[in-house]
Amino acid sequence: MSQLGMLIIVSAPSGTGKNAVIRELTKKDSNIFYSVSATTRNPRNKEENGVNYFFLSREKFENMIINKQLIEWDEYVNNYYGTPKKFIEDMTKKGNDVILEITVEGAVNVKEIWPEAVMIFLLPPSMEELRNRITNRNTECIESINKRMISAESELKYVNDYEYVVINDDLAYAVNQIEEIIHAERLKTIRNKNIVNKLVRRKK
Ligand code: 5GP
Repeated sequence: MSQLGMLIIVSAPSGTGKNAVIRELTKKDSNIFYSVSATTRNPRNKEENGVNYFFLSREKFENMIINKQLIEWDEYVNNYYGTPKKFIEDMTKKGNDVILEITVEGAVNVKEIWPEAVMIFLLPPSMEELRNRITNRNTECIESINKRMISAESELKYVNDYEYVVINDDLAYAVNQIEEIIHAERLKTIRNKNIVNKLVRRKK
């Protein structure tokens, strides 16, 4: 196992299906833990506080910013979203990997302070399919759908900042591809220096 757990960042335009991908991934790999974000947006139908998000008032969220309790935060379609710091620090110290599902701006900010973080961009098969998926989940008004489509176009411009791209056309296939990325990343020399050091250490 690596000395420190990895941070795995997944970004994708809203509607790409990243929640389903991450749910499958964490089910299959018990060493990967999902970082529950804080947000000021309202819960959607079956979302639960503390499971999908920590749903907070703007005032509480702003207090978390002031008290430096977030590793990063961003504004997306008129709401705040941020990653609580403590969970990530505790988990990675224990050698567990943590998966963050965050905006492109948030991802770039995390990479600056955590350069070994693995960045994966999940893509929809097409923009038409993306609009269909957002419309079919019946949770957004037309204004929000349009805003999310405009955001998607600008988010896609960040794809070159990411190390990996995975297309979410078939859920099981996309999950397998991400597993392969994670397996290869766990074998990187930089994450296994302790093993190498033990082998080359000589008695005086
Ligand atoms: P949604 O409202 O669809 O759940 O999320 C909207 C956007 O916020 C998505 O792109 C999602 O990845 C992003 N997001 C969720 N949590 C966080 C977070 O903690 N930080 C940042 N920067 N973005 C987040």
